[in-house]
Amino acid sequence: MTYLKHLECSECGHIFDAKQVHNLCPDCDAPLWARYDLDRAKAELDRDAFAMRPASLWRWRELLPIDDPARRVDLGEGGTPMLRIERIGRALGLNALWLKDEGRNPTGSFKARGMAAAVTHAKLLGVKEFVVPTAGNAGGAAAAYAARAGMPIHVYMPKDAPPVNVNECRSVGADVHLVDGLINDAGRLAATDAKRHGWFDLATLKEPYRVEGKKTMGYEIAQDLGWSLPDVIVYPTGGGTGLIGIWKACEEMAALGWIGSKRPRMVAVQAEGCQPIVKAFQQESLASELWPDAHTIAAGLRVPKALGDRMILRALRASHGTAIAVADDAIVRMTNDVLRLEGISMAYEGAATLVGARQLLERGWLRPDEQVVCLNTGAGWKNP
Ligand SMILES: *Cc1c(COP(=O)(O)O)cnc(C)c1O
Ligand SMILES: [Zn+2]
Repeated sequence: MTYLKHLECSECGHIFDAKQVHNLCPDCDAPLWARYDLDRAKAELDRDAFAMRPASLWRWRELLPIDDPARRVDLGEGGTPMLRIERIGRALGLNALWLKDEGRNPTGSFKARGMAAAVTHAKLLGVKEFVVPTAGNAGGAAAAYAARAGMPIHVYMPKDAPPVNVNECRSVGADVHLVDGLINDAGRLAATDAKRHGWFDLATLKEPYRVEGKKTMGYEIAQDLGWSLPDVIVYPTGGGTGLIGIWKACEEMAALGWIGSKRPRMVAVQAEGCQPIVKAFQQESLASELWPDAHTIAAGLRVPKALGDRMILRALRASHGTAIAVADDAIVRMTNDVLRLEGISMAYEGAATLVGARQLLERGWLRPDEQVVCLNTGAGWKNP
């Protein structure tokens, strides 16, 4: 049984019924938060009982938006390993470095977590057909979960998206539209067609449940570290769902009494060729501006303007974190170093976090003995 109570607008605080499908707040065009009855959950849930369940996203089912877990759309997502990476740590000058390896998820990226939650919830509420705009991996994951749910999906992606993403969508039967432009252009077309045909739009943060799936990374990190949080969590930021979700998980775990007062400093890593959040953070703005001519080899980071930019920036500031940009050639070198030194296959986006950690150490923002968790958000076989 879920403790989900209602949805709440992230800007105006208006409450919405979670038993109906929603996209953005109609007044503010802002994303909605899923809110749970955490007081009751605190009284009734035992954090240590979760460890007895199979390692899976659904281990956390009471804190996910799904009433009937038996009807979940499940491909075996979540429960990924936390790997200590000492050799890379030594090379970087970090003594307590961990990698949470999300590349093990179905479809080879952590997009699986979000789509498992969002597709399940929408299906249970009677949605019949999906649409999703994507830089690549979100499309692949959405297409696989739609296939698993036995539902049609339309995927809109940039025409220069990695071919592996186009193929994985087509191979599971998705209707793929290649768009002349970037993910935000794909998003506009997807939204128009969603309205015209009555499809449900799974775009990043346009529905409230992909964040819910991704927040389980935060629960797992805390559980793997013995119900404590690291000093720093480094996250490769495109649309920011994972960063927002992990920070939400920290707040929920505190309200549930699962963790003490320590919070991680959250770091958003972006690519030099597309760094709207880094710029907004440095300029102390509340929101970001569209990044012109966005380009990077890390397709998941090619998001010139994130719908959740305000939520990302709030989490960075509330956590005393920061944002930093890294160069593509350093990302590629790091990907190869991690393969040789640790045998771990990383997505370029994931390798970007290690480059970011090294730069923060050089700047003195990170100290060598701090406990650092980097997220490898995808598998190396998805790299172009
Ligand atoms: C989508 C994606 C990202 C960015 O994730 P957001 O939650 O949208 O910021 C990072 N890495 C990979 C591999 C991705 O597919
Ligand atoms: Zn609102």
